[in-house]
Amino acid sequence: MANAKLHVICGNCGCNNSFTFKIDFRGRNDNDGNDYAGVNIICENCSTLHSLEDNAVEKNEASINKKICENMQYYMEYCEANGYVTPMEYLTEHKHF
Ligand SMILES: [Zn+2]
Repeated sequence: MANAKLHVICGNCGCNNSFTFKIDFRGRNDNDGNDYAGVNIICENCSTLHSLEDNAVEKNEASINKKICENMQYYMEYCEANGYVTPMEYLTEHKHF
């Protein structure tokens, strides 16, 4: 693994060394009306509030489970239309996306 080097710079004032963060547990709302947590990064130099998700994609269990369910749906539809194949055969030989 390479040495981790992540730089954070406030786009408002240019500060690169004075941040705090706060998890906002119910501060976000998805398209279905469900609340979810977000991370706010606060520049202590200029007091600007930044949302982490503006610059980083969340990878949470819900999105992973959604992808698994989508894959399972496609697998079942494939088997129904073409006959049974094992899940591994489907993934290695028949999955088209
Ligand atoms: Zn700032």
